[in-house]
Amino acid sequence: LPEYAFIGRSNVGKSSLINMLTDHKKLAMVSGRPGKTRLINHFLINQNWHLVDLPGYGYARVSKKEKQVFQKFITDYFKKRKQLVSAFVLIDIRHEAQNIDLEFMQWLGEQAIPFALVFTKADKLKPNAKTRNVEAYKEKLLETWESLPPYFITSSAKKEGQVEVLEYIDQINQQLNYNTIR
Ligand code: GDP
Repeated sequence: LPEYAFIGRSNVGKSSLINMLTDHKKLAMVSGRPGKTRLINHFLINQNWHLVDLPGYGYARVSKKEKQVFQKFITDYFKKRKQLVSAFVLIDIRHEAQNIDLEFMQWLGEQAIPFALVFTKADKLKPNAKTRNVEAYKEKLLETWESLPPYFITSSAKKEGQVEVLEYIDQINQQLNYNTIR
């Protein structure tokens, strides 16, 4: 089944977004490391795709060693990915572009991994500020990228952007099915 992986800095609102996308349904967890802490969780959605919950990066209060372990989990996942269709990189809409995120996107680009952006916590800003921040982010990206990735503006608190993200994924899945049937 096709996989879509969600990732971002810790505290960016990933868990809340995943809860929103899944309507807080308890989902079948189809893989992960049994026992111990599951660093990477797969959720089966609509019986036809997997949402992959990757660990957050950029924790302020972890040792270098721990960071390396996390990083290795993340890079191993992306390098082994067979079913991965796209990553979703989460960005807190309130913050200006952070190097850690830009570098991560750069790395995805180098690995030829498609990604979309999700601006989170949109309810925390007024409409003007929201637009201003998104535009500033796009400009920053265009300094290094030739074109912009698809992006979504979401609020898990206000349940905004849920339909858009899910429809985007459904559309890609339909295209994938169509191509395999042909
Ligand atoms: P994670 O560490 O990336 O999984 O982040 P969480 O989902 O745990 O969210 C981190 C904090 O941000 C929590 O206090 C959430 O309640 C808050 N938060 C997450 N999403 C939203 C949102 O859409 N709106 C608001 N106002 N707060 C949010």
